[in-house]
Amino acid sequence: MAWKTLDDMDLAGKRVLVRVDINVPMDKGVVTDATRIERIVPTIKDILAMGGSPILLAHFGRPKGKHVPEMSLKPLVPALSDAFGTEVTFIERPSHDEIFGMPGDAVVLIENTRFSAMEEANDPQMAGFLSTLGDVYCNDAFSAAHRAHASTTGVAELMPACAGRLMQAELSALEGALATPVRPVVAVVGGAKVSSKLELLGNLVAKVDHLVIGGGMANTFLAAKGLNVGKSLCEHDMTDTALEILEKAKAANCEIILPSDIVVAAEFAAGAANETVAAEACPADKMILDAGPDTVAKIVSVFETAKTLIWNGPLGAFEIKPFNAATDAAAAKAAELSKSGALVSVAGGGDTVAALNGAGAADSFTYISTAGGAFLEWMEGKTLPGVAALEQ
Ligand code: AMP
Repeated sequence: MAWKTLDDMDLAGKRVLVRVDINVPMDKGVVTDATRIERIVPTIKDILAMGGSPILLAHFGRPKGKHVPEMSLKPLVPALSDAFGTEVTFIERPSHDEIFGMPGDAVVLIENTRFSAMEEANDPQMAGFLSTLGDVYCNDAFSAAHRAHASTTGVAELMPACAGRLMQAELSALEGALATPVRPVVAVVGGAKVSSKLELLGNLVAKVDHLVIGGGMANTFLAAKGLNVGKSLCEHDMTDTALEILEKAKAANCEIILPSDIVVAAEFAAGAANETVAAEACPADKMILDAGPDTVAKIVSVFETAKTLIWNGPLGAFEIKPFNAATDAAAAKAAELSKSGALVSVAGGGDTVAALNGAGAADSFTYISTAGGAFLEWMEGKTLPGVAALEQ
């Protein structure tokens, strides 16, 4: 690993600036899903145990450089205090006097970093000021690491910097899945559109042994191969791109798995009347909403020979039953193999966690990333500025 962790730092008596992602869903001032808060607890507890005083830096929502009262971090204080088992002090506008006057074991939360336009502009003035508030910087916000902001990269370049426990876990899991994986590696990429996952597909075909393409984006590939996809969601203008990806896969010896049978319906609706037909036989007045059982059987057989699985995106329109069937069946198999230790499985990005949760499979995966955009950019092979700043 090219980056330091908390174990490499001497934190006794030090103020530690910790960039966290506590952008949690709230309803009427109450946290409705505390997952992101729970994930940073090990970092905060370890810093306290090492004699350090954590000062939390975080964003909330998209205030775009303005003070938006509804996007204050203050309502999070009770949930954070509960999770850390110690009282958190909220500071709206940090001054040296106030910060330096805090007791050595204090946990401090500073107001939404994005209330200042200097945050997203990665303004050196803001990074410089933040760096004077602490002795050490710790980045525990992998999910914000694809953005070069004052609190994610600017400040990291000005002080001794390390990765927090969550950042460490995310990077280890992702490096284990794609940079130094145990082979064979299979990737599942599903979801709505090829256009939003082009770079992901391009990077994966060069690195994995099998690539399962599912969901709406599979329709674009079927159409590119000359099949009729009826009224399906399909990006006909992406035909050449889809063919290029298939070519690239062939050259790289990556097996592409597309649906061989499909579940079709006349409308995009829960409970819509449906039938399963061969991929070549989509009726002109119907749309493809899921992969069929033969396709699932093929995916399962690939999972059984694989040692590593990367998963992003559903295999069908999983929100409307019964078109969650292929996603659920494949996820259940991945969960079973992961639980038995036969497969290392890593999933992340947007809707994926919801789809795997819906299948009751998420808990058995080896690692579920909390990141959306950052997970995708990492899987696309991009350098994440927040991670690069820790490597310097
Ligand atoms: P993404 O955000 O790209 O991961 O896409 C997820 C979305 O793709 C979900 O809302 C699914 O309902 C949708 N999706 C998956 N398969 C299909 C399909 N065959 N037709 C239409 N939408 C689909």
